[in-house]
Amino acid sequence: MTAAASVPGKELEDNHRAALRSALGDAVRFNEPLAPKTSMRIGGPAAAYVSVSTPALLAQVLQICESEGLAWTVLGRGSNVVVRDAGFAGVVIHLTGEFTKISVEGETIRAGGAVPIVAVCREAARAGLEGAEELAGIPGSVGGAIRMNAGTRVEIGDLVRRVGILIPGHPGLDILPQFAYRTSSLDRRAVVCFADLVLRRGDRQAVQARVREHLARRNATQPLSLPNAGSIFRNPPGDFAARLIEAAGCKGMRCGGAEVSPKHANFIVNRGGATCADVLSLIDRVRDAVRQRHGVELELEIQIL
Ligand SMILES: Cc1cc2nc3c(=O)[nH]c(=O)nc-3n(C[C@H](O)[C@H](O)[C@H](O)COP(=O)(O)OP(=O)(O)OC[C@H]3O[C@@H](n4cnc5c(N)ncnc54)[C@H](O)[C@@H]3O)c2cc1C
Repeated sequence: MTAAASVPGKELEDNHRAALRSALGDAVRFNEPLAPKTSMRIGGPAAAYVSVSTPALLAQVLQICESEGLAWTVLGRGSNVVVRDAGFAGVVIHLTGEFTKISVEGETIRAGGAVPIVAVCREAARAGLEGAEELAGIPGSVGGAIRMNAGTRVEIGDLVRRVGILIPGHPGLDILPQFAYRTSSLDRRAVVCFADLVLRRGDRQAVQARVREHLARRNATQPLSLPNAGSIFRNPPGDFAARLIEAAGCKGMRCGGAEVSPKHANFIVNRGGATCADVLSLIDRVRDAVRQRHGVELELEIQIL
């Protein structure tokens, strides 16, 4: 099982380009390279790439996608997606402006959907609020983290009390999704505009020290100097994908420029010039090896766009 990376629909045609251009002006770009906007640094362009700075503009873009039946998706910080070599033939929505705001009131942090998780951790530490330290080092946005229920021992879903969303054709809604391991009940067509995270009052220096500890642990165990998309596979119940992959002898296995990291077996790194086809072939080889060695079917955690 893999979460769908986009809302399915039609590919962009000239009349759609004209409609987007006339409604959005400079906010839309065509044939926009996506590789630099993802942590894996691979893949082709977006047929249309729209930067939206307000909920009103977002509603307008969603309305166009919906009424024209276009394929669309939101791209957060691109740290959990791998873009296909042919790119994405629909509309990629990028949140900016109002969606990047963050504020602290008492023990609640309100963060826009585009706020980096790192900024949430920094604000929490500055305000002496504890509970989010384990999320430090997750290179995603609040919206992407909520969709994926990102985390380690603590997941973002443990902290979320309210999520403001927009769904095409509906007014803004405040909801509390259900969360499970690396997934949420968020509708595929819901865009996270903001979230309220509730933390606990703590000691500022102790919080900062725990954040530093956590970052150091990631640095020691993850191949952070090479482009990657985090864990490729979900952990199967009661086990770890990395353990199974390593025991199946896949560390260091390569397809073109893609390599199973010798440092962390559940990471595939781009050693330079990797294509999405390289990554997908390597994923197949790892899956085959794990199936043969352990009889376990690994499921993808990353999303293929
Ligand atoms: C080095 C590294 C370490 C990582 N460590 C962890 C970890 O410890 N734990 C963990 O869980 N993950 C980890 N990840 C994976 C990734 O960082 C998280 O899944 C992150 O939450 C994805 O956020 P993003 O903004 O990058 O989302 P993207 O990759 O841009 O998108 C992921 C999904 O979220 C959707 N999405 C993005 N923004 C919104 C929005 N505003 N509204 C609705 N949907 C949205 C996208 O459409 C897509 O389906 C790691 C990744 C890397 C590269």
